[in-house]
Amino acid sequence: MLARFWGTRGSIPAPGQGTRRFGGNTSCVELHDGDELLILDAGTGMRELGIDLARRFPESLDAHLLISHTHWDHIQGFPFFAPVYRPQTTLRIWDSARPGRVHALLRGQMSGETFPVPFDALSARIVEGHLEDGVNDLGGFRVRRAAQQHPGGSWGFRVERGGLSVVYATDSELDKLLPDPSLPTRHPSRLRVLPSAVVDFFRGADLMIADAQYTDSEYTSHEGWGHARASTVVDLAVQAGVSRLSLFHHDPQQDDEALLRKLDACRQRATAHGGTMEIALAREGVEVKVATLLR
Ligand SMILES: [Zn+2]
Ligand SMILES: [Zn+2]
Repeated sequence: MLARFWGTRGSIPAPGQGTRRFGGNTSCVELHDGDELLILDAGTGMRELGIDLARRFPESLDAHLLISHTHWDHIQGFPFFAPVYRPQTTLRIWDSARPGRVHALLRGQMSGETFPVPFDALSARIVEGHLEDGVNDLGGFRVRRAAQQHPGGSWGFRVERGGLSVVYATDSELDKLLPDPSLPTRHPSRLRVLPSAVVDFFRGADLMIADAQYTDSEYTSHEGWGHARASTVVDLAVQAGVSRLSLFHHDPQQDDEALLRKLDACRQRATAHGGTMEIALAREGVEVKVATLLR
């Protein structure tokens, strides 16, 4: 199984010289294994994914799309996803909240007032699905969902295939789940213990892709906005014993240099707490082989 990042930015696209290295497009991640394809979120990175898929699958394409939630940075790429304009495409769109809600919002953002081409003009076969609690079988991908702390709600997904696991958990304010919310301020370096139900969802993941938008100092002025301190994400990864952590949903204000400083701080923190996982910044265009790492 391979994971490829097409959009790694949070909140709004942030193209420009300062973000060239890690990318400016919003959330979109591709998981694939041969011809089987699962797409996580439909942010602006989805446009380039669509161009690539049209090239890779000229005859027919059958893909699953999971939407974490319908904030703009997670759905805005959909109308620019070339395969939905081709009859040889089947796209299975899964939502987790109220049945039909994701579909209605994808359709709504293509109304005449916001977009020139109506949803009904799409020539792909679009199939609406709803994830349930427990294991959902999506082709060869086994998917579980978990509700997250985010304004309006969001969902994390644990995807398993062939004995490997990827957890995609963006737009999640982990800090709101801390039993002692004052701990990070009183003792910033101390390990932030999260409830076991939260940790279990991430347990032993081969790849954890997580919202790590804020540094500790940024978080203080953005509390309640629905995103985590990167330091708390590291603590969760340590407690869950994941193999690899990809820091994701980069703040649009953070340029490449700022991201590298955040990465450095995260690595130091993991080491201080005995974590042995690999930590990297999710980077647009980069493919990661999901594999069990010997540690
Ligand atoms: Zn977001
Ligand atoms: Zn959001």
